[in-house]
Amino acid sequence: MHIVGRFAPSPSGRMHLGNILCAMLGYLSAKSKGGDYILRIEDLDTLRCTKDNCKQVLDDLNWFGINFDDINFVKPKNVNISNINNSIYQSERTEIYKCFERFLKEKGLVYPCFCSRAELHAVSAPHLSDGRLIYTGTCKNLTEQERKQKKRKPAMRLAVPDIKISFVDGCIGECTENLKLECGDFIIKRSDGIFAYQLAVTVDDGLMGVTEVVRGHDLISSTARQIWLHELFGFKPPKFYHMPLLVAPDGRRLSKRDKDLDLGVIRQYMKPQKLIGILAYTCGLIENKEDISLDELIKIFSWDKIPNRDLILPEL
Ligand code: GLU
Repeated sequence: MHIVGRFAPSPSGRMHLGNILCAMLGYLSAKSKGGDYILRIEDLDTLRCTKDNCKQVLDDLNWFGINFDDINFVKPKNVNISNINNSIYQSERTEIYKCFERFLKEKGLVYPCFCSRAELHAVSAPHLSDGRLIYTGTCKNLTEQERKQKKRKPAMRLAVPDIKISFVDGCIGECTENLKLECGDFIIKRSDGIFAYQLAVTVDDGLMGVTEVVRGHDLISSTARQIWLHELFGFKPPKFYHMPLLVAPDGRRLSKRDKDLDLGVIRQYMKPQKLIGILAYTCGLIENKEDISLDELIKIFSWDKIPNRDLILPEL
């Protein structure tokens, strides 16, 4: 099988080391199997994801030495789409997402949800360990009349069946989630009309022929929902690798607030080969902290070498 990996950054600020590590492992994983590595910009949140941030992300990836391949778009089997839009910017792909939303509506799987954030938190809904609420279905069985009486703009939810989604994650191993009990009906379009991450990411991974997804461990809880959407749309779900998170020497999770670890600062005093070496050492690909190129790493890359625990960044 021809492997297609992808990097899908949300350009809401400068990339930090965790983001570039994700890009690096995704690239190495695809290239070590002779595959392609493609880029998609997840800029649906146009307020935070500005054009300037986006340019910066592209420039950082270029500096780091990751070259992206052309995308071979796939024609969906189940869903009629008006045109194959080949933009890599999600903000330009709304018409495509609408076709997939329409498909779900025609199957009777989508319903409007008028609940406000406050209302969602007020009901005694079960919470998951990550703080996510399991939706209790308040708006599921509203009549047309009741819907008309609502004053606010609705979000759109996908009704999920009582089904177990199981997959073997390339880093974590066997994972299972019961969609109804552990997730509940989830939002595919927000009340402001912006398509939700879960829908957009699945449509794009499917249409862009992605066969493997490498991303941070923090996104594992989205995976069952995405696999379910892939199945509804008639796509083959990709293989997932939820890589360990990069943490500061004191165990703290890195974030966009750690300005000293963003590429704007690091690029001022470090060459890419050095940063690649530090990241490769941090995740166990090489034994010593030494300069190395991506090409050399492609030859020695294996997921078996990446530990399944937080990666502690050494002093730079
Ligand atoms: N755009 C997401 C982010 O930057 C990643 C989504 C994904 O890899 O599925 O956090």
